[in-house]
Amino acid sequence: MKPNPHSVRSLMNRQKNITKGHLIDLCNKAYGIFLSFSPLNPKFTSGFHITDNFSDCFSFNLVNKKEKDKICAQELDKMVLQISSSPSMALVVTDASIKNNIATSISHIHLANHPLIKTVHHAAFITSMEAELFAIRCGINQACIKEGVSEIIIVTDSIHAAKKIFDSKSHPYQSHTMAILSKLRHFFKTNQENSIEFWECPSHLKWRFHNNIDKDSKSFNPTPSFPCKISWDYCKKTDSDDIINQWKMTFQALDGKGKHFLDLVDNNLNIIESAYTKGGPWLQVFSHSNLLCAHAMRAITNHAPIGEYQLRFFPKEDLKCPCNDYPIKSRRHILHECRRFNGYWNP
Ligand SMILES: [Zn+2]
Repeated sequence: MKPNPHSVRSLMNRQKNITKGHLIDLCNKAYGIFLSFSPLNPKFTSGFHITDNFSDCFSFNLVNKKEKDKICAQELDKMVLQISSSPSMALVVTDASIKNNIATSISHIHLANHPLIKTVHHAAFITSMEAELFAIRCGINQACIKEGVSEIIIVTDSIHAAKKIFDSKSHPYQSHTMAILSKLRHFFKTNQENSIEFWECPSHLKWRFHNNIDKDSKSFNPTPSFPCKISWDYCKKTDSDDIINQWKMTFQALDGKGKHFLDLVDNNLNIIESAYTKGGPWLQVFSHSNLLCAHAMRAITNHAPIGEYQLRFFPKEDLKCPCNDYPIKSRRHILHECRRFNGYWNP
C-alpha cells in the first residue's frame, strides 16, 4: 500500500514536536478507524444532492412534543392500518442497542400478506447513532428491492440519525449516507410515484411494533472477535468521556470546587454529578432567570451577603440571624431552619 503523503508519519521529528496532542493521537488511532468521511463524493455536491433532485419524494413525520403519547401511538396505528390494506407499501421498523461496546442493529420489514422479515447486524466499537443509521440503511436496502413496493415507511426512535441521510455537510456517517442515497436515488428514478417517509417513534411511547423490535435488539449477547476496527465517532466519544472523567476527578478530588461548595442532590438524594450537556445539570434548572441564577450561584458557592460569609471579614460584628434563633446567619440555617424563609425545605 502506498504511504499517504498527508500522513502524520511523514512529518519530521521537529514538526512532530510542534504538532502535539490530538493530531498525533489521531495518527496512532487512525490505523484502526474505518473510513467514514467522503466529502468529495458527487452525491454530496450541490445540484446533484438528493434534496435538489428528489425533494418531493421524501418526508418526515415528527412527533409533536405537545401532543400526548396516546395520540402519537394512535397516528402510528392509523398508518399501519393503511399499510395492511396496501400491497405497495412497506413498513420498516428499525432499532439499535449497545451492550458491552457491541452494537446490534435490527430492522423489521412488514409487507401486506407476507411474513415479517427480520435483519440483524452486529458491530463493535461504534456509537449508537451509527448503529441506528445502519439499521435504517439495511431496512431501506431490502425494502427498495421488494417487487411492487412504491412507498416505504421507516419508523425509528432516532429520527436525528435519519435526518443525517439528507445532510450534505461533512459528517462521520457519510459512508452510510452514500450507500443509502445511492439506493434511494435508484428507487426514485425507477418510478416517479416512489417515495419514502420517516416516522419518529420515541421508545417511551412503547408503540407495539417498536416495542417488539426494541426487545429483539436487547435479546442478543454477542462477544467481539478481536482485533476489530473502531469508528471515528466512537473514537471521539471515548476521548470526550476520558476528558469528562478527568474533569470530574479534578472537581471532586482536588477540591477544585472549593470548601464551601454546596453539593446538589437528586430526588433519590444522590449527589448530582457534573456534566456539560445542555449547560450542565445545575445551570439548566435555573438559567432561565438571571436573578435566580445569581442567587443560586451565591448559595452554591456560599459567596452570599450572609453572616457566615461576612464573619470572615468582620469577625467582631453581630451576625445574628434576624429571626433571633441562631447566632450566625449561615447558609445551612437559611436553607433548612430559619422560619423567616418559606417552608419549601421544611413543609
Ligand atoms: Zn433565621
